[in-house]
Amino acid sequence: MAYWTHYHSPQTIEETLDVLTRYEGRARMIGGGTDLILDMQQGHHPPVEALVELARIDGLKDITEEDGFLIIGGAVPHTQLVQDARVARYGTCLVESCGVIGGPQVRNVGTLAGNVAHALPAGDGTIGLLALGGDVEIADADGLRWVPMAEMFLGPGRSAIDSTKAFISRLRFPKTGEHEGSAFRRVMRPQGVALPMISMAGRIRLTGETVESVRISIGPAGPTPFLAEKTMAFLAGKKSSDAVFAEAASVASKEASLRTSKHRASSEYRHEMIRVQLPKVLAKAAERARTGKAAPEGVGL
Ligand SMILES: Cc1cc2nc3c(=O)[nH]c(=O)nc-3n(C[C@H](O)[C@H](O)[C@H](O)COP(=O)(O)OP(=O)(O)OC[C@H]3O[C@@H](n4cnc5c(N)ncnc54)[C@H](O)[C@@H]3O)c2cc1C
Repeated sequence: MAYWTHYHSPQTIEETLDVLTRYEGRARMIGGGTDLILDMQQGHHPPVEALVELARIDGLKDITEEDGFLIIGGAVPHTQLVQDARVARYGTCLVESCGVIGGPQVRNVGTLAGNVAHALPAGDGTIGLLALGGDVEIADADGLRWVPMAEMFLGPGRSAIDSTKAFISRLRFPKTGEHEGSAFRRVMRPQGVALPMISMAGRIRLTGETVESVRISIGPAGPTPFLAEKTMAFLAGKKSSDAVFAEAASVASKEASLRTSKHRASSEYRHEMIRVQLPKVLAKAAERARTGKAAPEGVGL
């Protein structure tokens, strides 16, 4: 069975939009195809008339710095991102989250844009980027515009982007600066499923030993990638200490909406894992903020 008939590799953003317009909803954007092709093969996504990729467009396979942001092209695969020293330094939790996606073959072709566009509540790269305060650049008939990532998600697997009409051209996040650090951890079954039992990421800015600002994301903890806003409010202005981070984890465990999933984990286990793992994430982010040293950990081989 053919899952698609035509494959397009346009060379500009305008040409890409023209191709999508021409197919009137019968073409779909593709990154590495590590979600989409499997979904088609398994009958979760209908065949399409055409697939459209971004890989030939100048600049969309690049990682660049501009106005305090790191900008990641929509066609950048996880491996490239994980190996970039600037992402490791200024967005450590993103390297740690993209670095555990699948195995090397998946990371060599799978993209951060595809991870975000798929809109799964536990997409690893998505959770890392959300904690960093990421934005997504949308290309559609109205042109290009940046939107905060949190506006991208409508429900599990339901993105605000219609990938038959529009696409993610770039993604960005404000670089962690002095006295800032980030970290990511996840709890995963050793094999058999592609998504974690629970994952979490944090970004912290310290003033002395006080938490000046913090962002925390958890997945899956609701129908969309979850920003733990009550926990963030609880932590702001508090002392950076193990005792406070343990209290914050209890707040997070209460505000997160955690389901029992037959293949992954019970709700109780997920609650417990937030209490165990989140203090470690926050402590690591704080240590990085304090020392200015950030060597990503746990990246897969
Ligand atoms: C064996 C295996 C293990 C995996 N393990 C993990 C894991 O540990 N953690 C995890 O989070 N994921 C995992 N995944 C899922 C997948 O690899 C990632 O979500 C990956 O980042 C998807 O990127 P992609 O470029 O391959 O997306 P694609 O499959 O190409 O696309 C996914 C969706 O996004 C749309 N899309 C793609 N690019 C764009 C764009 N630029 N603009 C608009 N829409 C777009 C597509 O139309 C499609 O709907 C795994 C997959 C496999 C096969």
